[in-house]
Amino acid sequence: MGDILIAIVIGVAIFWGIRKILVMLSTPPPEVDPDEIVEVEQHYRCSMCGTELIVTVASTTETDPPKHCREEMTLTWRGA
Ligand SMILES: [Zn+2]
Repeated sequence: MGDILIAIVIGVAIFWGIRKILVMLSTPPPEVDPDEIVEVEQHYRCSMCGTELIVTVASTTETDPPKHCREEMTLTWRGA
């Protein structure tokens, strides 16, 4: 009888653990603050593979260049 009780306790613990992980995974990221994004025109190139990227809207709190091929991309042109 005691074994069944332990099995039920373990089962419930696993159930709650999985539920908690699922809730964490399904929680959306926080909303973007419109005051923290500005329209820009920044052209980046990946020095590893040559991919070019144009950034049209950037966050004022994120000043690092985007990454590609695990390397930071090189800014090739910056508009107004
Ligand atoms: Zn690349």
